[in-house]
Amino acid sequence: MTAPPDDRTATGIRAAIAGGDRSAVEVCRESLDRIAAEDPRLNAMTVVLREEALARAAEIDARRQEWSDLPLLGVPITVKDVICTRGQPTTAASRILRGFRPAYDATVVTRLRAAGAVIVGKTNCDEFAMGSSTEHSAYGPTRNPWAPDRTSGGSSGGAAAAVAARFAPVSIASDTGGSVRQPAAFCGVVGLKPTYGRVSRYGLLAFGSSLDQIGPLTLTVADAAAVLGVIAGSDPFDATSGDAPPASPAEAPCGHARGLRIGVPRRLLEAGEAGLDPEVRSAFEAALAAIGEAGAQIVDAHLPHAAYSVPAYYLVAPAEASSNLARYDGVRYGARAGTSAADGDGAADLARMYERTRHAGFGAEVKRRIMLGTYALSAGYYDAYYRKAQQVRSLIRDDYDRAFADAGIDVVATPTTPTPAFPLGDRAEDPLAMYLGDVFTVSANLTGLPAISLPAGRTAAGLPVGFQLTGRPFDEAALFRVGDVLERAAPWWRERPRDGAGGADAEAGRGGNG
Ligand code: GLN
Repeated sequence: MTAPPDDRTATGIRAAIAGGDRSAVEVCRESLDRIAAEDPRLNAMTVVLREEALARAAEIDARRQEWSDLPLLGVPITVKDVICTRGQPTTAASRILRGFRPAYDATVVTRLRAAGAVIVGKTNCDEFAMGSSTEHSAYGPTRNPWAPDRTSGGSSGGAAAAVAARFAPVSIASDTGGSVRQPAAFCGVVGLKPTYGRVSRYGLLAFGSSLDQIGPLTLTVADAAAVLGVIAGSDPFDATSGDAPPASPAEAPCGHARGLRIGVPRRLLEAGEAGLDPEVRSAFEAALAAIGEAGAQIVDAHLPHAAYSVPAYYLVAPAEASSNLARYDGVRYGARAGTSAADGDGAADLARMYERTRHAGFGAEVKRRIMLGTYALSAGYYDAYYRKAQQVRSLIRDDYDRAFADAGIDVVATPTTPTPAFPLGDRAEDPLAMYLGDVFTVSANLTGLPAISLPAGRTAAGLPVGFQLTGRPFDEAALFRVGDVLERAAPWWRERPRDGAGGADAEAGRGGNG
């Protein structure tokens, strides 16, 4: 049995609109009003699609009866700015894509629209999704709704802030090394990275193609399951997508966790290098205890190579990025740096134009990644870096396979991040410190396994803490089942950040209070 739908959630909004209790236009206006009131402070949105959203909501109201079965009927959603929306700005928060309006929708966008979702705007992120704080954005950083002097995480910081601040109950974003889960953790919302291949990447501006996956940020586990049901499935435009056995997410929650084995990689958590904050640790232990009380068996998980996930990821991801970003040359997409009067015609001028465009168009972190990746792939270093990283990647996957097969573990639990949201500026000048914060999230991308971040309380200073579960391939259902148990034991999503200031309010009614 699942909890009754709440009208702040996607599931609840859908039910209210389908039943005629609320109009899609009213819900859409409420969403747009919240954005207008709070976004000047938070900077979560790169563009607000007011007219388009209201027109679509009106269409939904007009056809409500005919469309009443649609799973996201009238639900306002936001889309990360690395996902193509037809005719609407899609910039990856980069200067190099200023003015770019794709000629097509990403497959996830097509599916969300067809399911009745109303796209109210695009969300801010680190440039080309490279980062953990949304500070590498051409639009400036997003502020954390719980603490405006802190990061909302990254790279999908805008997406997480938009859900936490109740702009819309659903954001759709990409996760290459934690970019859905880490911001979800920092902002106290649910964030799912599905199994690699579960969701089509067509229309996602590619970062690391063997790591990238699109997933939802939501208030509740049931909403994450509902959105996954809409966006999952094979797509002829993405050969890595497939029709794996259905998640049957709706049936998964059963109110208890009996029969499930939860593996905890104690060695990884104890390692000093993990830098686990004591308050994160105690929130993690409390969540684990709640799951244990619901009947799960908690066991030790032996993942000896997980400690090498950060170095492996920071070779593989930049290598793939350096190749993917070669297409941004000022010719095919977006902005071009002007040619100078000194230029004549010919190949040398073309090369100069590429150089100027890329110099002016890319920010420092993207340039760093392109250089790191090009170096790791270069003839003399390929074996020492890129190949070695791929070998470590296989060892990490073997660790998980063994934990699942030999130790009978159903899901692996860790904190999502070693620390809560850090102050803006804290790691901006220290890429290594920024990268090390990804210690618990990148394994799921290197292995392709599904993983979810769930709200697990707040620190004494009021900062959200995330609890992460990693499952067997295509077993998102197990993540939802355990997540549902945790959500019932501690429904953190009902608390929301206070408008204007930071701190918390018990959610009194639906959004719009000031
Ligand atoms: N923080 C990681 C990075 O900077 C992950 C980014 C992502 O998942 N897009 O690469």
